[in-house]
Amino acid sequence: MKYRLMAFMAGRNGFDALSNTLIWASILAMFASRLIPNQVAHMIAYEISVLVFVYGYFRVMSRNLPKRHRENIAFVGFFQRRKLNFQQRKTHRFFGCPQCKATLRVPKGKGRITITCNCCGRQFTKRT
Ligand SMILES: [Zn+2]
Repeated sequence: MKYRLMAFMAGRNGFDALSNTLIWASILAMFASRLIPNQVAHMIAYEISVLVFVYGYFRVMSRNLPKRHRENIAFVGFFQRRKLNFQQRKTHRFFGCPQCKATLRVPKGKGRITITCNCCGRQFTKRT
Protein backbone atom coordinates (compact mmCIF):
# COMPACT_ATOMS: atom_id res chain seq x y z
CA MET A 1 0.00 0.00 0.00
CA LYS A 2 2.78 2.40 0.97
CA TYR A 3 4.74 1.38 -2.11
CA ARG A 4 1.74 2.01 -4.39
CA LEU A 5 1.30 5.48 -2.88
CA MET A 6 5.01 6.22 -3.43
CA ALA A 7 4.80 5.03 -7.04
CA PHE A 8 1.71 7.18 -7.57
CA MET A 9 3.41 10.28 -6.13
CA ALA A 10 6.68 9.78 -8.08
CA GLY A 11 7.34 12.72 -10.40
CA ARG A 12 4.62 14.79 -8.79
CA ASN A 13 5.05 18.05 -6.93
CA GLY A 14 3.90 16.79 -3.51
CA PHE A 15 3.15 19.05 -0.56
CA ASP A 16 5.03 22.34 -0.57
CA ALA A 17 4.51 25.53 1.44
CA LEU A 18 2.07 27.05 -1.05
CA SER A 19 -0.06 23.90 -1.39
CA ASN A 20 -0.17 23.42 2.39
CA THR A 21 -1.25 27.02 2.90
CA LEU A 22 -3.94 26.78 0.19
CA ILE A 23 -5.34 23.51 1.57
CA TRP A 24 -5.39 24.60 5.23
CA ALA A 25 -6.73 28.08 4.42
CA SER A 26 -9.53 26.54 2.32
CA ILE A 27 -10.46 24.07 5.10
CA LEU A 28 -10.63 26.96 7.61
CA ALA A 29 -12.66 29.01 5.12
CA MET A 30 -15.13 26.10 4.67
CA PHE A 31 -15.82 26.10 8.42
CA ALA A 32 -15.81 29.90 8.64
CA SER A 33 -18.34 30.13 5.79
CA ARG A 34 -20.90 28.38 8.05
CA LEU A 35 -20.93 31.52 10.18
CA ILE A 36 -22.24 33.64 7.31
CA PRO A 37 -26.00 34.07 7.94
CA ASN A 38 -26.88 34.99 4.33
CA GLN A 39 -27.55 31.71 2.45
CA VAL A 40 -26.32 32.97 -0.95
CA ALA A 41 -23.15 34.56 0.49
CA HIS A 42 -22.53 31.36 2.47
CA MET A 43 -22.80 29.22 -0.68
CA ILE A 44 -20.47 31.53 -2.66
CA ALA A 45 -17.85 31.56 0.14
CA TYR A 46 -18.13 27.77 0.43
CA GLU A 47 -17.75 27.26 -3.36
CA ILE A 48 -14.66 29.53 -3.43
CA SER A 49 -13.03 27.62 -0.56
CA VAL A 50 -13.74 24.32 -2.37
CA LEU A 51 -12.09 25.73 -5.53
CA VAL A 52 -9.02 26.83 -3.49
CA PHE A 53 -8.91 23.33 -1.93
CA VAL A 54 -9.05 21.70 -5.39
CA TYR A 55 -6.32 24.04 -6.67
CA GLY A 56 -4.13 23.15 -3.66
CA TYR A 57 -4.49 19.44 -4.47
CA PHE A 58 -3.97 20.12 -8.18
CA ARG A 59 -0.58 21.62 -7.19
CA VAL A 60 0.25 18.54 -5.06
CA MET A 61 -0.55 16.15 -7.95
CA SER A 62 0.96 18.32 -10.69
CA ARG A 63 3.78 16.91 -12.80
CA ASN A 64 4.84 20.35 -14.10
CA LEU A 65 7.58 20.64 -11.46
CA PRO A 66 9.49 23.71 -12.74
CA LYS A 67 6.30 25.82 -12.86
CA ARG A 68 5.07 24.63 -9.42
CA HIS A 69 8.56 25.25 -8.00
CA ARG A 70 8.60 28.85 -9.33
CA GLU A 71 5.15 29.49 -7.82
CA ASN A 72 6.28 28.17 -4.45
CA ILE A 73 9.52 30.21 -4.49
CA ALA A 74 7.56 33.37 -5.31
CA PHE A 75 5.11 32.62 -2.48
CA VAL A 76 7.79 31.87 0.14
CA GLY A 77 9.94 34.82 -1.00
CA PHE A 78 7.01 37.23 -0.64
CA PHE A 79 6.62 36.36 3.07
CA GLN A 80 10.38 36.30 3.69
CA ARG A 81 10.67 39.86 2.32
CA ARG A 82 7.74 41.00 4.51
CA LYS A 83 9.39 39.43 7.54
CA LEU A 84 12.77 41.03 6.76
CA ASN A 85 11.18 44.48 6.22
CA PHE A 86 9.34 44.12 9.52
CA GLN A 87 12.50 43.08 11.41
CA GLN A 88 14.44 46.05 10.00
CA ARG A 89 11.69 48.68 10.38
CA LYS A 90 13.44 50.46 13.29
CA THR A 91 16.85 50.77 11.62
CA HIS A 92 15.96 51.15 7.93
CA ARG A 93 13.37 52.68 5.64
CA PHE A 94 12.19 51.14 2.40
CA PHE A 95 11.41 53.16 -0.72
CA GLY A 96 10.15 52.07 -4.12
CA CYS A 97 12.19 53.33 -7.06
CA PRO A 98 9.97 55.77 -9.06
CA GLN A 99 11.34 54.40 -12.35
CA CYS A 100 11.72 50.61 -12.04
CA LYS A 101 9.69 49.99 -8.81
CA ALA A 102 12.59 48.13 -7.16
CA THR A 103 12.51 48.23 -3.34
CA LEU A 104 15.47 50.17 -1.92
CA ARG A 105 16.61 49.97 1.70
CA VAL A 106 18.24 53.02 3.33
CA PRO A 107 19.37 53.62 6.95
CA LYS A 108 16.92 55.58 9.12
CA GLY A 109 17.59 58.97 10.74
CA LYS A 110 19.96 60.45 8.12
CA GLY A 111 17.73 63.42 7.20
CA ARG A 112 17.20 64.29 3.52
CA ILE A 113 19.35 62.05 1.36
CA THR A 114 19.73 61.37 -2.32
CA ILE A 115 19.02 57.73 -3.03
CA THR A 116 20.48 56.06 -6.10
CA CYS A 117 18.64 53.00 -7.37
CA ASN A 118 21.09 50.14 -7.78
CA CYS A 119 18.94 48.54 -10.49
CA CYS A 120 18.44 51.43 -12.94
CA GLY A 121 20.68 54.22 -11.54
CA ARG A 122 17.79 56.71 -11.09
CA GLN A 123 18.40 59.26 -8.28
CA PHE A 124 15.70 60.74 -6.03
CA THR A 125 15.64 62.61 -2.71
CA LYS A 126 13.78 61.36 0.38
CA ARG A 127 13.68 62.02 4.12
CA THR A 128 14.75 59.05 6.23
ZN1 LIG B 1 15.25 51.84 -10.26
